[in-house]
Amino acid sequence: MYRSNTCGELRASHTGSQVTLSGWVHRLRDKGFVVWVDIRDRYGITQLVFDQERSPKDLLDRARDLGRETVIQVTGAVIERASKNPNLPTGDIELLVTELKVLNRSLTPPFTLEDQTDGGEDIRMKYRYLDIRRNPIKNNLIFRHRVALEVRKYLSDHGFIEVETPYLIKSTPEGARDFLVPSRMNQGQFYALPQSPQTFKQLLMVGGMDKYYQIVKCFRDEDLRADRQPEFTQIDCEMAFVEQEDILQCFEGLTRHLLQEIHGVETGDFPRLTYDQAIRRYGSDKPDIRFGMEFAELNDLAQQKGFKVFDQAELVVGIAVPGAGDWTRKELDALVEWVKRPQVGAQGMVYVKCNADGSFKSTVDKFYAQEDLAAWARACGAKAGDLICVLSGDALPARTQLSALRMELAGRLGLRRPGEFAPLWVVDFPLLERDTQTGNFHAMHHPFTSPKPGQLELLETDPAAVKANAYDLVLNGNEIGGGSIRIHDKQTQETLFRHLGFSPEQARAQFGFLMDAFQYGAPPHGGIAFGLDRLVAILGGQETIRDFIAFPKNNAGRDVMIDAPADIDPDQLRELHIKLDL
Ligand code: ASP
Repeated sequence: MYRSNTCGELRASHTGSQVTLSGWVHRLRDKGFVVWVDIRDRYGITQLVFDQERSPKDLLDRARDLGRETVIQVTGAVIERASKNPNLPTGDIELLVTELKVLNRSLTPPFTLEDQTDGGEDIRMKYRYLDIRRNPIKNNLIFRHRVALEVRKYLSDHGFIEVETPYLIKSTPEGARDFLVPSRMNQGQFYALPQSPQTFKQLLMVGGMDKYYQIVKCFRDEDLRADRQPEFTQIDCEMAFVEQEDILQCFEGLTRHLLQEIHGVETGDFPRLTYDQAIRRYGSDKPDIRFGMEFAELNDLAQQKGFKVFDQAELVVGIAVPGAGDWTRKELDALVEWVKRPQVGAQGMVYVKCNADGSFKSTVDKFYAQEDLAAWARACGAKAGDLICVLSGDALPARTQLSALRMELAGRLGLRRPGEFAPLWVVDFPLLERDTQTGNFHAMHHPFTSPKPGQLELLETDPAAVKANAYDLVLNGNEIGGGSIRIHDKQTQETLFRHLGFSPEQARAQFGFLMDAFQYGAPPHGGIAFGLDRLVAILGGQETIRDFIAFPKNNAGRDVMIDAPADIDPDQLRELHIKLDL
């Protein structure tokens, strides 16, 4: 028997009992006549004591020599500590060791395995198995387990069945590139790894499974973006005989269950915004509504007063920044520079200080009287002491830029409070999106999403105006889930593929299996998928998803621990009939 108890378990009530513990040497303090060793496992830390009076000399010497992270097994008596440590759950006791066995030695770890480590990201990733021994990462993984368990409980209680779908498939378009897997048995042919189980879950509905879910890996070969993982986990769900409202109810319930179970937070009905409203009010389809700072359109108030920049703009749009009316000239200049950074891309910014005495001071005082600025302030909901920031230009970029500014300022002002949760639904997304470079349309969600009832005809005349039966669940400025009601008849699906630029032959070759299935009594159906990694990070009050994944890839898509991707043995390539021409 390696252990009778864990290293996190012993309390004053265990005093006098004989126990055996196994774990890692966390820390060692050698005072000469006494040696304390902290032994650590997943459950906690227990102090071991060896001393001149009570321990045999050779035992004391062996304890003294223990290196950090050595794996040991100890047996001894639980005794009350002379000086208790109230910060440690086991802090009332220590173990007077009578037997010490080294189970395995350890090299000196390349970084300290403390909550605050001295190890940088790269070294921690290379030795991830050591990083996982640290509390922050260990606790994140345990937290993830709890969230996943609650998801399974809720869905199972609501009649959902977890079904596994294959990983070696063919392309499922979700807007990214596929990861491909060459087939040895089928020369020159490739599998694609699923970007999502989308088509399979729809086929399960045709198969009568009714309510499906799966906590599942998805693979998307996307360009590098901070905090994206090429493989990530979805809570993937699908239901038959449902309308949008049924899905929103069901998954609002799931989200509420998680907030309740994990944080004890009660949430009322989730607000709903249409996509158009979200864009107009927050410049984003995933608005953070933990704070206000809503957009005010100022065209009527700010145009035709002689200020050319505004007169020529499609949109003049502003926000009130609470309490920023007394920022210094230097701070405000820096803010203007911030919006002009290429990542944000504004040409410039107008601002108005709402002074405590009710007067206004702006960067465009030449063109606007006090009453004009007072009208802006009313429109933005700015009070004395606030700052108004105004951007202008083409509507879409101006909104996107102001949204970036809104989030930045809210961050600086501490308005994005980590313990607060503000979920909402964004509904009525456009069905199609025009690629700014090619001018072609592509599906905003994916090509299996159905248009809103009665809008199919509009596809012929004004495709950009067609709204989809698609919805996103947004939490604290992050899209945590998205889905749609699907097309379930062959003809509509064919029409959609045509609008997406597929020839009938291409559509047949890629998705013939799905359209065939639709001809055998496909029920009306729809679903949603949540990004589990991000959901867990947000519920954990953090933003970095890597810290919630046991073995994540770095920002270049590499696993630096196992060193993948890697070169392939020429024999293996030959077997796959692949010639590399580098
Ligand atoms: N397959 C979709 C996605 O991965 C989710 C859905 O429509 O259910 O975003």
